[in-house]
Amino acid sequence: MQGLKWGMAALLAAGFAVPALAETTVLTNLTLIDGVSAAAQPGSAIVMTDGKIAWVGPMSGLKTPKGATVQDLAGKVVMPGIIDSHVHIGLMHDVTQDEKYFTPENVNADLKQYAAYGVTSVQVLGTDKDFVLDLRNQQRKSRPSISRVFSAGQGAVIKGGYGGLVGVTQPIATPEEGRKLVDEQAAKGVDFIKLWVDDERKTIPVKMPPPVTAAIIDEAHKKHLRAVAHVFYLEDAKELIRQGVDGFGHMIRDQPVDKELLDMMKAKGVWMVSATLSREMAYSLAMMPWLNDPFFTRGVTPGTLDALRSMAREKAVVLGPTRFPGLPYEKKVFFDMDRTLVQAIENWQAMVNAGVNVGMGTDSGPNGRFPGFNAHEEMQMQVLAGRTPMDAIKSATADNALWLGDKSIGTLEKGKWADLVVLEKSPLDDIRNTQMISAVFIAGNSVPTIWQTCRDRPLSACTTGSSTEPPHMPY
Ligand SMILES: [Zn+2]
Repeated sequence: MQGLKWGMAALLAAGFAVPALAETTVLTNLTLIDGVSAAAQPGSAIVMTDGKIAWVGPMSGLKTPKGATVQDLAGKVVMPGIIDSHVHIGLMHDVTQDEKYFTPENVNADLKQYAAYGVTSVQVLGTDKDFVLDLRNQQRKSRPSISRVFSAGQGAVIKGGYGGLVGVTQPIATPEEGRKLVDEQAAKGVDFIKLWVDDERKTIPVKMPPPVTAAIIDEAHKKHLRAVAHVFYLEDAKELIRQGVDGFGHMIRDQPVDKELLDMMKAKGVWMVSATLSREMAYSLAMMPWLNDPFFTRGVTPGTLDALRSMAREKAVVLGPTRFPGLPYEKKVFFDMDRTLVQAIENWQAMVNAGVNVGMGTDSGPNGRFPGFNAHEEMQMQVLAGRTPMDAIKSATADNALWLGDKSIGTLEKGKWADLVVLEKSPLDDIRNTQMISAVFIAGNSVPTIWQTCRDRPLSACTTGSSTEPPHMPY
């Protein structure tokens, strides 16, 4: 024994890697939703070795490797880890958004929370500080135990206009500055380029003009990066498609989409990356109906809950005006939000029916949209808008992985990372069952679920709710 120890120490000192024993966990007797097949497959098993799926198939074909840990998941359903393709991280303390909260600790807490809700990957759209890219690079060299990050670095905001994060994004004014920004982001190694094209219902007198958007999209393509745009207006969306934009970060909401737009999106393969229906819904509510739902309350701080439950907030939301951080403009739009929500849902249906590529994204992170929680809302709203639960799940897993261009995640197939969610009941029977989270694995690591979480408090402070309780929210 002594000799062996010394021998390994000598090898390590000499710089040789010592092959570690393979670590294998086998999940048995589960119902599999693999993200590829048309139907769920009862009586399945998954072999996870060193964080990857080494084998998946029917129990009859299972050969349990020697020394493997076996977990019997009889009665449970396993689906791929959820991917949210539009989030922002590290923004908030309670209900206050400020760049000063963008710390590694807060980012880590958000990514831990996404994981707890079964969201095993997130795409951050344009408000990241540079250390997020370091974190992402570390994740890609290891087996993370928090949500995987895809980052658009710092997105493009027009000077005096809407979007970005004050203190992180540096607004631009000209096509040349747009190209320079893209070059800088590409040099940092971002995964995407984000741009904001909006004037918040004409309450802001500046909107990114076509020559600037064209320069940003063109430069992104020169750097082999795809460009994803925040949009609101139909005409802006069409112009951006003509300029070659690759995806939209929100649904078009000013008017019904027409055949011309749908045809353009299909012909050029433009994605509706994130319809953010749950965001539009959150904006249309004076008082949120989930403030006593443990699936929600476990993931937010007591300060957040107190603020959201206050009459003062309800009054402020309804009567507005809301100030834009860092801008001298105000909006008073609550009266218009119901219409916006309905328009977003109708346009979403039109895109799905036309066969446009659609992902699943929420724009959670900023005030009123909650990391992890919103992803479940978003899938429920897709079903409310007429999709099958299976299609909603695929948009949030396999399809989002396709958008991200990452072949190692999104489905439960041999060779992929073992990023998966174990559910007590089938989400195909009721999409709300995605909330009945029994376990979450990222790269084969079991991580705490929302039912084992009590954000910023000791676990004992959260006494309500469990994975086996039926979902509370009646949509
Ligand atoms: Zn956003």
